Amino acid sequence: MRYRNTWENAVVGKMEKVAENVMEIQLIPEHGTAVFTVGSHIDISVLINDVPEVRSYSLVGQYEPNSPYTIAVKRLSESRGGSAYMWSLKEGSRLQISQPSNHFELSFNSSDYLLIAGGIGITPILGMAEQLIAKGNKNVRMLYLGSADYEMPYISRLQKMLGKQITLNFSNVNGSYNVSKVIDLCNEKTQIYLCGPIRLMNAVRKTWEEGPFENSNLRFETFGASGLFAPQDFLLKIPRFDLQIEVKKNKTMLQALEEAHVEVMYDCKKGECGLCQVDVLEYSGDIDHRDFFFSESEKGENNKLCACVSRVANGHIVIDTAYRRK
Ligand SMILES: Cc1cc2nc3c(=O)[nH]c(=O)nc-3n(C[C@H](O)[C@H](O)[C@H](O)COP(=O)(O)OP(=O)(O)OC[C@H]3O[C@@H](n4cnc5c(N)ncnc54)[C@H](O)[C@@H]3O)c2cc1C
Repeated sequence: MRYRNTWENAVVGKMEKVAENVMEIQLIPEHGTAVFTVGSHIDISVLINDVPEVRSYSLVGQYEPNSPYTIAVKRLSESRGGSAYMWSLKEGSRLQISQPSNHFELSFNSSDYLLIAGGIGITPILGMAEQLIAKGNKNVRMLYLGSADYEMPYISRLQKMLGKQITLNFSNVNGSYNVSKVIDLCNEKTQIYLCGPIRLMNAVRKTWEEGPFENSNLRFETFGASGLFAPQDFLLKIPRFDLQIEVKKNKTMLQALEEAHVEVMYDCKKGECGLCQVDVLEYSGDIDHRDFFFSESEKGENNKLCACVSRVANGHIVIDTAYRRK
């Protein structure tokens, strides 16, 4: 059961590889580009095994009237196939996209900014840097971290714009960036905008929470729900309905529940809104909480989980849902 999203037709414009495994794609909406703020994303209806699914992509750069939307898609090898579908598009292909929406809004109420991007997490961050610089903000610094320069798009565009204010780290050359240094780059006015892989996000959040500055000055967006364990099949039981379901590794719990006709309310499908939470009655193995809705202590209690992203590794789970069959 899902609410929201007005879809419209769009045509694919220019496609260009901007890094190893990153394709920049222009999208021309049928009714013209909507005004959007930096940090926005659009949802795209992708086909996976001929079944429509939704994937989100951040808009690269700032809004410009009469210009297409630009996105950059990283091709993932370990995946259900959304990014591969995006790479299979050609100039002139037709698809359905949503209006832009923004859950990662840049606030202009500070005089000091640190932008942190890990890999493909640069896509919402790039427009933020452009806009802050365009507004004459002098105190904008960026950390752009990745595994190798050839895998990181937009390096020269950023260097041209930011000069010495950008720090690049290629872990194949320099090793992993020492995230504890982030605090030294900040003061009490600094707002951090962060987007990157889960391990980087968790490390920065931990450092920030242990540091001397306001928690609310760290703002972030997640791209996905990669967990601490590789996805694997597991058994899901719901005693209320006398049900046993095998959740396959390429399916989410939410999909498995829907296929078994157990209705679960949901919205974001990214582990952010918490609408799809279910009660955990019993489990074995590890619950791989992949959401950003529950706090770390709630996750530690293992009493609830978000069915859209979280899974079980090396065990099984017994749950209850709010749904009651008539
Ligand atoms: C707001 C937002 C903005 C985004 N912007 C961008 C962007 O600018 N560029 C970009 O490339 N991507 C972006 N993404 C990510 C994008 O929406 C897709 O998730 C991405 O392209 C991968 O899709 P996929 O189907 O190829 O991979 P998926 O199958 O969705 O796999 C993604 C991750 O989930 C894990 N996974 C695989 N199977 C399962 C399963 N059964 N259950 C749970 N997890 C599983 C994988 O290990 C992998 O780490 C954004 C996402 C969000 C939410």
